[in-house]
Amino acid sequence: MSRFFSHKYDLLTPYTPGEQPGQRQYVKLNTNESPFPPSEKARRYAAEHTRSLELFSAPEAVDLTAAVAKLCGLSPREVLLTNGSDEILNFAFMAFCDGEHPAYFPDITYGFYPVFARLNGVPYYEIPLREDFSLCPEDYRGLKGAIFIANPNAPTGRALLRDAVEGIVSANPESVVVVDEAYVDFGGESCLPLIPKYHNLLVVQTFSKSRSMAGARLGFGAGCESLIRDLNTIKYSTNPYNVNSMTQAMGLGTLLDGEYTQKCCEAVMENRAYLTAELTARGFDVIPSKANFVFARTDKMPGEDVYVKLKEKGVLVRHFNVDRIRDYNRITVGSREQIGALLAALDVIL
Ligand SMILES: *Cc1c(COP(=O)(O)O)cnc(C)c1O
Repeated sequence: MSRFFSHKYDLLTPYTPGEQPGQRQYVKLNTNESPFPPSEKARRYAAEHTRSLELFSAPEAVDLTAAVAKLCGLSPREVLLTNGSDEILNFAFMAFCDGEHPAYFPDITYGFYPVFARLNGVPYYEIPLREDFSLCPEDYRGLKGAIFIANPNAPTGRALLRDAVEGIVSANPESVVVVDEAYVDFGGESCLPLIPKYHNLLVVQTFSKSRSMAGARLGFGAGCESLIRDLNTIKYSTNPYNVNSMTQAMGLGTLLDGEYTQKCCEAVMENRAYLTAELTARGFDVIPSKANFVFARTDKMPGEDVYVKLKEKGVLVRHFNVDRIRDYNRITVGSREQIGALLAALDVIL
């Protein structure tokens, strides 16, 4: 740290992304990327748009915003595109939280929430999940601030039904409830249909996981017009060109190829069932997952050892050195081939 670094960041510990290995070819099951490439149409659209990169990207992204709005059954004024969904999550902390409006989220959830809270000087409360990592909706009542719920949750993979989330939204009229649906396309229930009914609901989705676009950085928030207007105020105060033109074009290509996305999601769900069964057969406890990863532990070996030994064998999974979940590893549902390599490595290690 230089002597110039502001003291307002004294308590900031940055988010630690999963490893992105350089030379060695790993079987990469640590960051929940899609095992499938972006759709052909998406790649063609992106390539065509390199022609006009001398121009700034369209700040309003009219075409893609309209396409996303249509997908959500909303008007374009109820949607805002961002540079990955991490950006809109940060915007939400900036827009809806302050000293009097703390952030609330589960103790075990997406690691970026506490980072964004600290970055923005926002007090936050971590509400413990139950012993089995399920969320108890009754713990979220009459809060005043902003509530962040990843549904399905990461890194557990557990999902709440839409009715349960609606209960939280309606029980907290003084809070914006941000529902982070990064993994919803793998069998979860989206809260998008609730948006016309609630002015305190922001649904966040991403193109990174189910749409195979993690490297292109595209996410969005959907909510009532006034929430989206607030978030636009933040966007136009930070980076109006937040989504580059190649990514805008690529997003459009992906949405025009919905059938491909659906096929990829179905393959991931099939592979998830297979991976869960194979891990269970090897003595793992696997938490029922609605995401493109599973969260698993075994009595045979501490979680960190499983992680280290798999890495030695060329298989990367994600281990969190965090109290309640130290026994577990989060394993991305890969292709059949990747799962085969993981299981073969486990059979040697155990
Ligand atoms: C991956 C992920 C995101 C963000 O992904 P982006 O690539 O920034 O869109 C957000 N929330 C959760 C829970 C995630 O796992």
